[in-house]
Amino acid sequence: MSAVVAAPAPVVFKAACPDCRARFELDAAAIRLAIGASSRTTFYSFTCPECDTAVRKPAGERIVELLTGGGVRTLRLHQTV
Ligand SMILES: [Zn+2]
Repeated sequence: MSAVVAAPAPVVFKAACPDCRARFELDAAAIRLAIGASSRTTFYSFTCPECDTAVRKPAGERIVELLTGGGVRTLRLHQTV
């Protein structure tokens, strides 16, 4: 009997649109995370599925962790090596 490896449940992120106030869930592919040199330049963005507005929100440490852990594509604007 072969074991069936269950695929991890798809991660969804709850988001809200500041423009039309719609609330919705986005999967990792719908979100982009940009990490800048400071928290002021670190943000995530997505397109509202309701009104098509490009939404950009600041991402704190916890959000960054959540998003990267959920497989969101990350763009590093600043290399801190
Ligand atoms: Zn909207």
